[in-house]
Amino acid sequence: MRTPIIAGNWKMNKTVAETLELVREIKQLLGEAPENVEVVLCPPFTSLWVAKNALGRSKFSLGAQNLHHEPKGAFTGEVSPVMLAELATYVIIGHSERRQYFGETDESVNRKVKAALAHGLKPIVCVGERLEEYEAGKTNEVVGRQARGGLAGLTPEQMANVVIAYEPVWAIGTGKAATGAGANAVVKQAIRGPLAEMFGEATAQATRVQYGGSVTPANIAEFMAQPDLDGALVGGASLKAADFVEIVRQTAKVKA
Ligand code: PEP
Repeated sequence: MRTPIIAGNWKMNKTVAETLELVREIKQLLGEAPENVEVVLCPPFTSLWVAKNALGRSKFSLGAQNLHHEPKGAFTGEVSPVMLAELATYVIIGHSERRQYFGETDESVNRKVKAALAHGLKPIVCVGERLEEYEAGKTNEVVGRQARGGLAGLTPEQMANVVIAYEPVWAIGTGKAATGAGANAVVKQAIRGPLAEMFGEATAQATRVQYGGSVTPANIAEFMAQPDLDGALVGGASLKAADFVEIVRQTAKVKA
């Protein structure tokens, strides 16, 4: 059984003071995370420490949004997996915004995934096709290539700590989500298919795959009703406590 995982990607939003307020609101509205859903908050680096303290012993986990693959050294402005391991459980790797604005490639994603795992962090590896690739009918080819490249060289044992997020780039922040059935088909063919070839069928079936792209309280149930989708990576709606909590609640209900 795959425990669904709802992760909020706050992106470059929320000061320390705003983080404290949002964490307080989420905790107040949700109480403890439901038993059958894992809830992860991914604030900016600058808010991880206060978020960790504010969450206390609650069952929420924290995630970072990126890392550098080296453990330490002369890499001005970067943050290492060793530093993050003190603060977070998860780390988002290869988000489309990192690929688009910061030149990340399947190779750099792969280096980061290995570095995260080596230091006890669980990567949330993002894959997804751009609009022109979607329109050219290249979705499965692109997503399959990103999955293979990003996860190359891992072992089935390491895959137990990896989450994949399928995020069609045309759906991120646009209000134009994929359909549940469409996303499920891509995950089944272009992600679980390659996973089965790389790591075996058992690992392909055991790996959690989220959907991401304009997820809201209004559409989460459609995604969670799909058999191959195990939660969501939520951007915009994760900044509003009521929306994020409702997404978690509906996931718990649909996947019960
Ligand atoms: C994201 O940032 O990963 C994302 C899916 O954003 P949004 O939910 O705003 O589309």
